[in-house]
Amino acid sequence: MKLGCIADDFTGATDLANNLVRAGMRVIQTIGVAASPLQTDADAVVVALKSRTLPRADAVAQSVAALRWLQAAGARQIYFKYCSTFDSTPAGNIGPVTEALMDALDTRFTIATPAFPDNQRTVFKGHLFVGDVLLNQSGMQNHPLTPMTDPNLVRVLQAQCRGKVGLIDHRVVAQGEPVIRERIEALKADGVTIAIVDAVTNEDLLRLGPALKDMPLVTAGSGVAIGLPRNFGLSPSSAASMLPTATGLQAVVSGSCSLATNQQVQEFIRCGGAALAVEPLRIGSGADVVQQALAWAEARLQAGPVLIYSTADAGGVKAVQTQLGADAAGQLVERTLAAIASGLVQLGVRQLLVAGGETSGACVQALGVPQLQIGPQIDPGVPWCHALLPSGEGLHLALKSGNFGSADFFVKAFGQLR
Ligand code: ADP
Repeated sequence: MKLGCIADDFTGATDLANNLVRAGMRVIQTIGVAASPLQTDADAVVVALKSRTLPRADAVAQSVAALRWLQAAGARQIYFKYCSTFDSTPAGNIGPVTEALMDALDTRFTIATPAFPDNQRTVFKGHLFVGDVLLNQSGMQNHPLTPMTDPNLVRVLQAQCRGKVGLIDHRVVAQGEPVIRERIEALKADGVTIAIVDAVTNEDLLRLGPALKDMPLVTAGSGVAIGLPRNFGLSPSSAASMLPTATGLQAVVSGSCSLATNQQVQEFIRCGGAALAVEPLRIGSGADVVQQALAWAEARLQAGPVLIYSTADAGGVKAVQTQLGADAAGQLVERTLAAIASGLVQLGVRQLLVAGGETSGACVQALGVPQLQIGPQIDPGVPWCHALLPSGEGLHLALKSGNFGSADFFVKAFGQLR
């Protein structure tokens, strides 16, 4: 293993893995810290945690456990991955986890940048922009768990850290590796331990890459990943995303209610796909929704991909939440869709697409899949993956977080696997 990565949430881990694969690395994503050795060779392993909003001590403990596992597996460099909108609170967890990893690695300096220009996240003079607006005007100021009210990342990170936070600004980054290295030495001499790095284009990230070559720890969103594989002598190649040949039946399970997913469900139906809506209120009333859905699917699977969905628009979701409560409804639907996903695999589905971040987590857990090999990208942020089921059989899996993917995503995804 060359690069060992620790991601603070599940779909963020896949996003990072996808960028590494596109830059030439063979990547395995593990669900939590793996209990067993890797099942395949890999250049990078991404340990997917769910530590973004955990109490600080728990986030630190899980991240350090992941680090120890990656070190034992031979990782030469560690990458701590967080959200491209720097999701955190004044208590953490980006700062505390970064400093704990620095202590554990016995290193005195690292960088931090959520820049991801492909996804309209840019950092300029230490300020994070989302599209054309500053972070605190992007809607993130209203996030229920991690409201981001200050776009100045030096200030945001400083509030979470013991050490001194500095800046490597755009003028430095524009001049490339030697000047970035000089700036790092100057910051170190000044007592700085973590530097926010400006980047507004992919070229900035590619210029930054070589300057990070000997850094034991890098912390970033998924953007910085595009510049690292080169440091290990790797360049983009389709071999990195090769997966075993896809076989078996095809299905989509969708529990995402995001705008993009609503369009994708409608487009699948418009194109004549076989689709079954799961009604949360029927589950709530005790009907055997899982068995009914599986019987419906069994009669149709041989003819082509089927879609089973709870996806609803804002009005539909609200009506359900009013009756069942938001948390209870969410968990009920997640459990039901996860049971349906398991049942579909028992019926012979070997190409499964799951829509929704939380829904994906529930399905992967129910399927008992401990690790994913990352394959080719379907749309930005969503690759096909390959997993080994507990039975030892292979399963092709794509996990789509809410607002990712084009309107015809469900229609085109299986074709791309061929
Ligand atoms: P996304 O990635 O779009 O946010 P998630 O799967 O993370 O999707 O979250 C969607 C949440 O909404 C899940 O907890 C899911 O169980 C719940 N849910 C799905 N369908 C409905 C529905 N019709 N009514 C209420 N809640 C729903």
